[in-house]
Amino acid sequence: MAIIKVGKDDLKTRDSALLELREYFSGLEAAKGRQITFSVRTYGCQLNESDSEKLCGMLESMGLKEHEGESAADVTIFNTCAVRENAEDRLFGNLGIIKSDAKNDKDMIVAVCGCMTMVEKNVDKIRKSFPYVDLVFDPQHLHLFPVYLRDSIRRKKQLVNISADDYIVDDSLVPISRKRKFRALVPIMYGCNNFCTYCIVPYARGRERSRELSEIIDELQILADQGYKEVMLLGQNVNSYKGSNGEKFPDILKAASEIKGFSRIRFMSSHPKDVSDEIVEIMASSPNIEKHLHLPLQSGSDRILKLMNRPYDRSDYLKTVHYFRKLVPEGSLSTDIIVGFPGETEEDFKETLSIVKECAFDSAFTFQYSPRPGTKAASMEDQIPHDIVTERFGRLLELQNDLAHKSNLAKVGKTEEILIEGQSSTAPDILTGRTMSNHLVNFTIPDALKIPGKTSDDYEGMLCDVKFTGARPYSVDGEMVKLK
Ligand code: SF4
Repeated sequence: MAIIKVGKDDLKTRDSALLELREYFSGLEAAKGRQITFSVRTYGCQLNESDSEKLCGMLESMGLKEHEGESAADVTIFNTCAVRENAEDRLFGNLGIIKSDAKNDKDMIVAVCGCMTMVEKNVDKIRKSFPYVDLVFDPQHLHLFPVYLRDSIRRKKQLVNISADDYIVDDSLVPISRKRKFRALVPIMYGCNNFCTYCIVPYARGRERSRELSEIIDELQILADQGYKEVMLLGQNVNSYKGSNGEKFPDILKAASEIKGFSRIRFMSSHPKDVSDEIVEIMASSPNIEKHLHLPLQSGSDRILKLMNRPYDRSDYLKTVHYFRKLVPEGSLSTDIIVGFPGETEEDFKETLSIVKECAFDSAFTFQYSPRPGTKAASMEDQIPHDIVTERFGRLLELQNDLAHKSNLAKVGKTEEILIEGQSSTAPDILTGRTMSNHLVNFTIPDALKIPGKTSDDYEGMLCDVKFTGARPYSVDGEMVKLK
């Protein structure tokens, strides 16, 4: 399947559609005597969040305003995730909830995009059960969303636009509306060539394709000039980045760390087979690159890793962990683990528990295996009974919660720099933020350090030093000692 590079000239159709839509929506605004609004509902990973920021950017450039409140917006887009069954069920549930709104308002537009659209059975279900969905389009064609929206309005009946072509678009050509004023999501590559046997992503997001290094550096420089303090470099496999002149991921890390203005450079997701010693060395030697490595393990059993088509074994994985722990002793390590993969025996599971203990992960995303239609693992024999999966999952959670708590306890008494993310979800006068090692911290600000007239959210993006006073299973408590 060819990778199609999209440049400025290829977007002329998009631009004329944007113009037409601006006219259409200003006409609708005049007719309804009110602002026309949109709502983009995002499921899944940060790449989906970044895609949603682009959808919001395009909708704002049509003259629409983001909807506030529970009632339905004039244009509602569901940006979906297909990684697990419950993510899919949530979409169908939410489509059911807005049925009456869509039926009562003939001008209301409902659209579905994201990874679920690349699974045929989902599109069939939308066609049959949700005829009031006006538009279905795939993640690869996000840049052409205005064209599809215009066409679905003209057609006045459901438009499904799905193709498996792999596109790489110069992201700077797509309007974007970033959600956080201090953190910017910056995709550097798209797609995945790994075909882990349990994963739908390679079928949903296509083959790996990387943005031009110069494009990424230009975008990062603009973000630094705009005052963004943190960037998250994104990709299904950031480490397998390949620039058109042979550039690799370390080149991006080094270039990003040399741009003045960023306090935090983060990246997600890594694949253990592609995490080189050089990446760990750059993390250790660059003050503004996060001291946190997310390294999805999935299983501690070499036999299961083979069945998952994950091309590394325990000893390879532990070599990277030990090198990271040696070069970045103040750093944190997180992972992804699947429990109950087809064929997993009690011995295999014990292998997972023992490597979790040895790695002493600071945090982990833990999942019960969920068969994804279309993946190899879904048709494998020896699917594990749900009660056994749940029992094992409980044991893993107990171990990992204890490790996470110990990691937070080890912070108590220390003072570290925090990038403030705003008001904590627990209390209005509590601020929240993260350490360089990605530990979540909730902290108070003494009156003497408060800036008169500022609310908690006004401190978003500022740096401060916090003394850690206590620890909980998933976070650290503290008190600000210096505002920077
Ligand atoms: S590396 Fe494996 S788990 Fe990750 S996106 Fe690719 S196929 Fe899925």
